[in-house]
Amino acid sequence: MTRRLVCVGAGLSGLVSAYAAVKAARAQGTSIEVTVLEASARAGGNLVTERHEGFLIDGGPDSWVAAKPEATALCRELGLGDAIIETIPENRRVYLAHRGGLVKMPEGVVLGVPTKLGPMLRTPLLSWSAKARLVADLVLPPTEVPEGDVSIGELVARRLGREAAGAFVEPLLAGIYAGDAWSLSARATFPQLVEFAKRDRSLMHAARAAAPKRHAGGAPPSAFHSLRDGVGSLVDALVKALPEGSVRFGSPVASVTPGTETRWRVTLADGSHLDADDVVLGASTHLAATLVRPTSAPLADALAAVPYTSAATVFFAYPRRALAHPLDATGFVVPKREGMRLLAGTWVSSKWPHRAPEGTVLLRGFLGGLGREGALDRPDDELVSEARIDLERLMRFRAEPLFTRVYRFRQTSPLPSVGHHARVAAIRALLAAHPGLHAIGSAYEGVGIPDTIRLATKTGDAIGRG
Ligand SMILES: Cc1cc2nc3c(=O)[nH]c(=O)nc-3n(C[C@H](O)[C@H](O)[C@H](O)COP(=O)(O)OP(=O)(O)OC[C@H]3O[C@@H](n4cnc5c(N)ncnc54)[C@H](O)[C@@H]3O)c2cc1C
Repeated sequence: MTRRLVCVGAGLSGLVSAYAAVKAARAQGTSIEVTVLEASARAGGNLVTERHEGFLIDGGPDSWVAAKPEATALCRELGLGDAIIETIPENRRVYLAHRGGLVKMPEGVVLGVPTKLGPMLRTPLLSWSAKARLVADLVLPPTEVPEGDVSIGELVARRLGREAAGAFVEPLLAGIYAGDAWSLSARATFPQLVEFAKRDRSLMHAARAAAPKRHAGGAPPSAFHSLRDGVGSLVDALVKALPEGSVRFGSPVASVTPGTETRWRVTLADGSHLDADDVVLGASTHLAATLVRPTSAPLADALAAVPYTSAATVFFAYPRRALAHPLDATGFVVPKREGMRLLAGTWVSSKWPHRAPEGTVLLRGFLGGLGREGALDRPDDELVSEARIDLERLMRFRAEPLFTRVYRFRQTSPLPSVGHHARVAAIRALLAAHPGLHAIGSAYEGVGIPDTIRLATKTGDAIGRG
């Protein structure tokens, strides 16, 4: 008998779970029919790659953390092994916005935690009292790590002081999560730091011991991987790997309710429906909440309790000669105390090879984030000029861009805030009462591409095995 799987959303979650289910069923010699229902006209969700006037633009994510193997392994499995690229070696550093300009991140900062005292003592990024407070990490008695959760900002501040936490961890978290270090969960964002704090009296010492070793004088290893033709080529490869016609575009799902002949009935916005043995809810938890509310209000409430934020990216192409800055880094992050609209900036053509034609550069600014979601409601030209003011001020230039592009990501960035693991456990416990209903995505076990792929693969594989 052929089992039927319906995946809601053709982002990475929906596509990878469908792919893993087909693969597992094939390996067992059983048959499964998969349908991926996508509301919009394209696959990929947050992953959007475009070519424009010879530039290659990854509008959302541009890479994944190389130390997490799932995305790299999936690319190899799909025949994209030769297309995996690393960041440009000589630019493997970041700048920090400081007093309206840019200062290089001091050497040896790992997950926002300094590991070397010398660069810290020399940096203009900290006051002398903050430097003295930092040194106290080496001599103070161990800090107790609460059994429950604590914010990542608080965890680091207890050891290194609030100023150092605000200077390094806070902008890093804003750049990754578009969230606030003082409300994001330590256990859900940087669990390694929780382990360091438990294991070692000094956070700096523990971070140093765990830091990747680098060859003397050589560039540090590439912390990120991407694809030569952009992350969208992973999406294309996944769609191609699925049985033809599996992905249906322009098919927004309206509800998921218990079925009569099969376990589940998936109803689309146009009133049509599909029957399924398994349903994967692969979009945000707030969307999943809407879909399952007719079935279980407590499950819907638990799903809706995960907070999200929105972000926008604004791209600028310039002739290289218009910028005096050496652009010798992957970009910069902006501490909140700078009072700027930009959360971070990426020097795309310094970070990755072949993103901009010879003699030009491509820059990207991040806007929005927690408490600033309203920015996304403003028209493109306003977003462009806001990002441009900050870019030109920080990088000390003034020039007309060759072109600009704006991408909006509304409520698609989950915020694993304090208590996140308990919220996810509550969802899982309620889901257990609904066999065949699966909720996956970046809100559960990590927000990044590798985390999303890991959970989708695990879920699809279990469904495919039956
Ligand atoms: C701006 C930005 C930058 C990021 N940068 C990085 C990065 O550099 N590295 C990294 O590792 N991660 C990054 N991420 C995180 C990464 O994008 C996510 O881990 C991943 O894309 C999540 O995929 P998903 O399929 O779970 O969700 P999504 O990509 O949100 O996909 C959900 C899909 O469901 C569809 N959908 C919604 N409603 C319905 C409905 N009713 N019916 C049918 N379909 C529906 C949507 O149209 C969408 O296609 C970034 C995220 C953002 C927003």
